[in-house]
Amino acid sequence: MSEDRRSPQIGTSVYSRKRKWSGKTAKSKTANKLLLLKDNLIVTQSVENRLREKADKEVPEKISLKIYYFFNGGGSLLFFWVSGIFVVRPISDVFSPFSESVFWLVLAAWYGGLPLAVMAITGKLSAEPSKEREKLIDSKVIELAEQRERIIEESNRFYSSPEWVLVREQVIRSKGKICAACGTKIIYDYDLTVDHIHPRSKYPNLSLSVDNLQVLCRRCNSRKGAR
Ligand SMILES: [Zn+2]
Repeated sequence: MSEDRRSPQIGTSVYSRKRKWSGKTAKSKTANKLLLLKDNLIVTQSVENRLREKADKEVPEKISLKIYYFFNGGGSLLFFWVSGIFVVRPISDVFSPFSESVFWLVLAAWYGGLPLAVMAITGKLSAEPSKEREKLIDSKVIELAEQRERIIEESNRFYSSPEWVLVREQVIRSKGKICAACGTKIIYDYDLTVDHIHPRSKYPNLSLSVDNLQVLCRRCNSRKGAR
């Protein structure tokens, strides 16, 4: 089922036509196309934008810089600073005992040359913190997309379960087809929704509790969801 929906349209605009029926036009032509984040993980451009915004907030600049400086140079600098205390004097004594100029030469080499050489050899000198952060954000986007996919799958499973279908019917029968928010009598089944007063994401144990369920018209339900 989902296989057919997915593969053929990657990178192409799915909703290229303007949405005339809603009286509004689509906000952006590039907002709706499919993106392949990794194997079998496909989201629309607008979802990707939203996830990237979230990832951008969750990967703070300062922390990524700290990570960068620790792994790219900071760690090796620390090693050379500390080890220099024990090593510089003995080395300069080997070349020329008690010579101040040789001591300063070895000191300069130890604190300047060696860390740079090590960083250059490992290629870490060329890495930039902003690029490191971009990588962190990219992997965060994938993590968030996978999380989102799991939530959607779980939700689909729940709303198609016989338990939910049964409880939903009970609620509609006992509370009537009247919107609990705006008081409208609901005529069409399309407009009829049964809502979790305390959301399922926060109170999963109340998922099937009749006391936690209310009848809402579709408009009031989507208004509540938007909050
Ligand atoms: Zn309503």
